[in-house]
Amino acid sequence: MADDPFENMLAQMDRAEEYAEVDHGIFERLKHPERTLKVTLPVKLESGGVEVFEGYRCQFDSARGPFKGGVRYHPSVTQREVEALAGWMTWKAALVDLPYGGAKGGVICEPKELTDRDLERLTRRYTEGIRRMIGPETDVPAPDMNTNPQTMAWMMDTYSMYEGYTVPKVVTGKPLEIGGTPGRVEATGRGVSIITERLFEYLERDLTEATVAVQGFGNVGANAARLLDDAGARVVAASDVTGGAYDPEGLDVPTLATHVDAGGLMEEYTAGVVRGVSDDRTRWDEAGHIDNETLLSLDVDVLIPAAVEGVITAHNVDDIRASAVVEAANGPTTVAADEILTERDVQVVPDILANTGGVIVSYLEWVQNSQEFSWPLQTVNAELERRIGSAFDETIARYDDGDVPDLRTAAYTIALERTASAHEYRGLFP
Ligand code: GLU
Repeated sequence: MADDPFENMLAQMDRAEEYAEVDHGIFERLKHPERTLKVTLPVKLESGGVEVFEGYRCQFDSARGPFKGGVRYHPSVTQREVEALAGWMTWKAALVDLPYGGAKGGVICEPKELTDRDLERLTRRYTEGIRRMIGPETDVPAPDMNTNPQTMAWMMDTYSMYEGYTVPKVVTGKPLEIGGTPGRVEATGRGVSIITERLFEYLERDLTEATVAVQGFGNVGANAARLLDDAGARVVAASDVTGGAYDPEGLDVPTLATHVDAGGLMEEYTAGVVRGVSDDRTRWDEAGHIDNETLLSLDVDVLIPAAVEGVITAHNVDDIRASAVVEAANGPTTVAADEILTERDVQVVPDILANTGGVIVSYLEWVQNSQEFSWPLQTVNAELERRIGSAFDETIARYDDGDVPDLRTAAYTIALERTASAHEYRGLFP
């Protein structure tokens, strides 16, 4: 099951069904994506040859509004994974009460082996492939793993070329110059940080006394680490695909983030070969090298998986020593592991709540594009905090007064009820 994220998502839904007031027929309907398009993408690479890539766009459910969800570029992308991620988008949009359904896209590729020009061609070809599905009122892509504002700019341009006029609203996560919003790049990490602070308030624990380990140091993990460091938490470990850095005294997060931002690897940071980034070299020497599996088992207060799905499983759950897990990644915990963490009273803030900062600010970007008006960063951040905070409060209220076993089940119960209610009001066509 750990290998199949879609099965894992269905098992999470099943776990919540007995607590959710949802008609069984509608519940069954919610287990099936509306549609998935598979596209073949021949691309002439800068190296001369033609490579044929494969991509997908899954539209999971649109009862609550236009489809919404990112596009990921990764060698391990599969149709099932994209469908699971589209399901998770549906539940997170419902939980934070955005007027959206859920979707996801993915292209099987290794971006590290492609040049910028290759990536541009691949992105434009993929956009052409899914162009009949997407649109500012139908399905709005955004960045996900290995895609970024530049990718969104190419998607927006390609779509606009076919339409004959500029359509900023067709994607979110754009560069500021072409209709992006301030605060979108760091939004998911900011949401993770806000949620961790709220969790500590709820548990009546002091975040400034807490130690944190972050698995994954991409856009989400790095920003979450930076903001938690700002909030006074001690980030003792972080990792990327090359391995991790560990320092019980706390990592120098700003230096590490600057290093990784400049294209550096975690491996180099721990090996102490980073040059000219900071005057404080002592931390680099003290920082030990650990692998990703060891990072997961560190004795810390908060573990933040911010990389791929299926990293906390029945096989390693007994090694997890953190007292709280905040899921910055989508689907990092399998249901089998979840049940054990619940039994052990480890608080797990589920992905469909913890990582919603990105889609919330995507929504704010889309609204600004609709209004042809732009908001300052403070307005965006305040609105993000208000929306994610109220979803947190609602989830906690459900957890506190119901008999649901854990926060994930509480969150799913709310999301499923909201989506099912939209289906009930709309009825079945024809
Ligand atoms: N890819 C992000 C996620 O998984 C953001 C999606 C969006 O902004 O539409 O939530």
